Amino acid sequence: MSVLRQHLIDPEICIRCNTCEETCPIDAITHNDDNYVVDADICNYCMDCIAPCPTGAIDNWRMVSEPYTLEAQFGWDDLPEETHEESDVSGHTAEDAEALAILEKAHSGVKAVPPHSASHPYLNVFTRDNPGLAKVVGNYRITSADTDSDICHIVLDFGSTAFPVLEGQSIGILPPGTTASGKPHVMRLYSIASPRDGERPNHNNLALTVKRVEGGLASNFVCDLKKGDEVKVVGPFGDSFLMPNHPESNIIMICTGTGSAPFRAMTERRRRQQPQASGRLVLFFGARTPGELPYFGPLNKLPDSLIHKELVFSREPSRGREYVQDRMLARSDLVGNLLGSEHTHIYICGLKGMEKGVEESLRIIAEKHSLGWDSLREEMVRMGRYHVETY
Ligand code: NAP
Repeated sequence: MSVLRQHLIDPEICIRCNTCEETCPIDAITHNDDNYVVDADICNYCMDCIAPCPTGAIDNWRMVSEPYTLEAQFGWDDLPEETHEESDVSGHTAEDAEALAILEKAHSGVKAVPPHSASHPYLNVFTRDNPGLAKVVGNYRITSADTDSDICHIVLDFGSTAFPVLEGQSIGILPPGTTASGKPHVMRLYSIASPRDGERPNHNNLALTVKRVEGGLASNFVCDLKKGDEVKVVGPFGDSFLMPNHPESNIIMICTGTGSAPFRAMTERRRRQQPQASGRLVLFFGARTPGELPYFGPLNKLPDSLIHKELVFSREPSRGREYVQDRMLARSDLVGNLLGSEHTHIYICGLKGMEKGVEESLRIIAEKHSLGWDSLREEMVRMGRYHVETY
């Protein structure tokens, strides 16, 4: 049985303001005298309508084998009950279980909940038996040629197939070939580095940030891809390390190396959709040298009005060793003032080793600002405002 995740609008909450119909770039939303509705034959899951909706009525989804028709939706007073079809399809493929195990480990015991204003993610739309086929449309080195750190920015295009993703999610790449014992290689998870509407807006494409690891099967496969090559993709995965949609949200992003990928996606989302947002973006980004910091040039061009950047280097001959957690302490007033706000979300992504030091700095800063770290952390985790994804 094939199932579809259908986008629906909750008639009970909708205030019929017409914002969604105006926002939809492909006219998938329409209305009659009673209801605003989404045409399942047209919707391509670009998610452009989600953030502008003032009530959240737009952010509703049902797994269905037969999509609800427009006529049926026009007649609703409220949304139909979820059927058990949803649980039938979630979490029951080998890839999903594999991805869950990887992500759970990466979340380091943080009981992950998405931010309250995050959009609803699609999960495991493409599987090993039915992978998405992407064409490589670009592969660029984004670290200096004179460093040993070879990090690539790869753009994958899905053609006419929608591959719906959100900032913070990952995809699985299936390396071709088999192991010595003849089994297919296991998939590798990579964080998506572009916003939900794509590296190139509205063209079913996405970007990855991948570091070549000596002897690494998948990273060498991905970093060696040439324009025009085809890649099998599964996923998307990840239902909690997601970006808040409300413009008041402050997002503190703490990363090392390629752990910056989801933060590139979140920053670009904010730049495109909410450039006047009142919430702040603050980035603590660690690398050995400027030449090894992915996207160093483009990142430096982003205006301070969009994002406060703290680029931190551990092996610059002219300076002492500095890690992100050291710089956080040096900016304790900036971080401390944000910690006091219920709109502040913290995301930590990158090397597992940095987690302890980062959390210790957060504790010192919180306590300096008369905030008890243990209770604040617990509250932030519970509210989907504290996220860890480290490998
Ligand atoms: P890297 O180049 O090895 O390290 C980046 C920086 O982190 C270096 O300046 C390094 O300093 C510093 N560092 C080392 N230990 C640290 C510690 N305990 N605390 C703070 N900083 C520390 O980074 P990379 O090779 O790009 O690796 C990034 C990691 O992110 C990988 O493990 C990758 O798997 C992971 N990653 C995670 C995600 C995700 O979670 N979604 C996505 C992509 C990548 P020194 O080397 O000078 O000590």
